[in-house]
Amino acid sequence: MADRFFPNEMPAFVEENEGVLAPSPLHSLLYLPYPKTADKLLRAALDLKEKVVKETWVRLRGRAKDFTLYTGALGTAFLLFKAYQVTNNRGDLSLCSEIIRACDVASQGDPHVTFICGRAGVCALGAVVAKHAGDEALLNHYLSSFRGIRMRGKVPNELLYGRVGYLWACCFLNKHIGEGTIPTTHMGALAKEIITDGKRLSNRGRCPLMYEWHGKKYWGAAHGLAGIMHVLMDMDLKPDEKEDIKGTLQYMIRNRFPSGNYPSSEGSNNDRLVHWCHGAPGVSLTLTKASQVFQEEQFLQVAVEAAEVVWNRGLLKRVGICHGISGNAYVFLSLYRLTGKVEYLYRAKAFACFLLDKANKLIADGLMHGGDRPYSLFEGQAGMAHLFLDMVRPSESRFPAYEL
Ligand SMILES: [Zn+2]
Repeated sequence: MADRFFPNEMPAFVEENEGVLAPSPLHSLLYLPYPKTADKLLRAALDLKEKVVKETWVRLRGRAKDFTLYTGALGTAFLLFKAYQVTNNRGDLSLCSEIIRACDVASQGDPHVTFICGRAGVCALGAVVAKHAGDEALLNHYLSSFRGIRMRGKVPNELLYGRVGYLWACCFLNKHIGEGTIPTTHMGALAKEIITDGKRLSNRGRCPLMYEWHGKKYWGAAHGLAGIMHVLMDMDLKPDEKEDIKGTLQYMIRNRFPSGNYPSSEGSNNDRLVHWCHGAPGVSLTLTKASQVFQEEQFLQVAVEAAEVVWNRGLLKRVGICHGISGNAYVFLSLYRLTGKVEYLYRAKAFACFLLDKANKLIADGLMHGGDRPYSLFEGQAGMAHLFLDMVRPSESRFPAYEL
């Protein structure tokens, strides 16, 4: 596995044409009319979902030793909730609820406060699933548990373990339960602290806001600027605070690599990673959002340029959401939702079809890494299943636990 990615030999775009004589099974998938492709992806997703449940729940006898959404049981629950939203299978919803109950027990006393790696994810998803199940008592249980979450000691600002990861959970609740479930005053006060922290570390430098995680000034979605700006854009901010966010994104754009990719941390010259967690994919999602929030064409233009890097270097030798092909496909889905251009939907379809056609064999042959937690949502095949489900209704797709 010398290179980090497979060369992308798929055509940049093709018109659908079922009668065409395609040079490979993958190519014939690309020419297939969209509803037929979506149907194949749906069937594969539902099979994969069964496999994920077996490996991460049944085999562990219903214990949630790792409760997190990132690598643990809550990721399986999130996938089941997605499957329920697509197929309306109540069995998925009730299993999802059962898994969240185990996560609730396992996460008692856990110090982490985020959606992806902490207790906020358990309580927030628990509340939303309880609402869908029509269980008012359970909804109240999770909401009061969520409100009981406290940040103790010095909490970082980034997405996976930090304050914006908690804010994202608040936004998720407000979106799915109703505005005001978590008061905007509570969220605004925290957002203000995050901006103050960013200014302090920037020290009036060239970038208005700067943050550190474990001593490093990261830029990516998981631990750095892209993720922090992504969540802050959903907050109710003053004009000067919005300018700081905009200025931070413009600083990143000015200092990107000549290739169009983005450094994983401040000052890094290593143009290597094209992941959601580090590099162009995570930044592209943030820039796509910025173009909507600020209504400025400049952000869409650079988001498209970052997506071009993802098309060329993003066919990674891993399947997952965080640093794999599935996560990278969401860059195209996000641009498709914003612009409605079929070229982007095609590119998402191409990445999904590459996985559908090749992932199992490439993993079996040792040419692709199955993931350290091979059935997890962020590192493994649950992420691939989530992408396939999102391909069924691409206009409603969302990068899991990141796009609202
Ligand atoms: Zn990653």
